[in-house]
Amino acid sequence: MPKVIILGSSNAIPTKGSENTHMVLVGKERMVLIDSGSNPILRLEEAGLDFNDLTDLILTHFHPDHASGIPLLLMDMWLLGRESPLHIYGLHYTLDRLESLMGFYNWSDWPNFFPVIFHRLPIKEMTPVLDCSDFTIHASPVRHFIPNIGLRVEFTRSQKVMAYSCDTEPCEEVVRLSENADVLIHEATGETPGHSSARQAGEVAKKAGAGRLYLIHYPTGQYSSGDPIAEAGESFRGIVALMKDFTVLKFGKRLPLSHFGRAAENGSDSRTKKAGKIYQPEI
Ligand SMILES: [Zn+2]
Repeated sequence: MPKVIILGSSNAIPTKGSENTHMVLVGKERMVLIDSGSNPILRLEEAGLDFNDLTDLILTHFHPDHASGIPLLLMDMWLLGRESPLHIYGLHYTLDRLESLMGFYNWSDWPNFFPVIFHRLPIKEMTPVLDCSDFTIHASPVRHFIPNIGLRVEFTRSQKVMAYSCDTEPCEEVVRLSENADVLIHEATGETPGHSSARQAGEVAKKAGAGRLYLIHYPTGQYSSGDPIAEAGESFRGIVALMKDFTVLKFGKRLPLSHFGRAAENGSDSRTKKAGKIYQPEI
């Protein structure tokens, strides 16, 4: 069953136990890393995955909290003698900068470097990114300080849809990207330019007709404040939960709504909120 593992849930400032937001999408054929803040190798190991099994990397935008782990990831793949290609997807703006960054490391002089295949995406809504037997991925531009993309993942067998806003102000592009998605993973940094608050994420989820709203990229640890689940629940009546590092989202068969009992009725997932435990819903 294809799954998404949250490797980091924090905004740009990581705290103990909460890394910068990034995640991995695991199917039978492909293992796709979505962004690569700090050290994805350790995060993948903790999640029980081998970083050398990654087939693809989607880089949403070129901010350090999303891109700074890539040089180490590529170097360590090379040190282990990787031969299989790694596909890297992103906007022209993003991949031009990634190539420049790797140029500072003189990576062209590293002998026998495995093939890295760059896929430059246009700034266009619902651009096809990747298609395999388990899922298809599309990207749409979102509204941030620099060019950035959100993602829509459609799972082939279950026909479920997961949308990911990435870092963005509320905008119609995100609403369209997440239209009728079973799960919308939306950032909740706060109500500042280029970002959204939990309340605004709730409004987007409502407009999009999303089934569930999972908040990510929010202030964690000593920087956390307020009650994001309650704030999002002011406008969005479906289930709301906070993503935590190592939350596993399984995109298998659909469970009846009653599975979630009172949480579903309340419009928030009280178990996650109270216990702060890792939440492993079957979507
Ligand atoms: Zn960010």
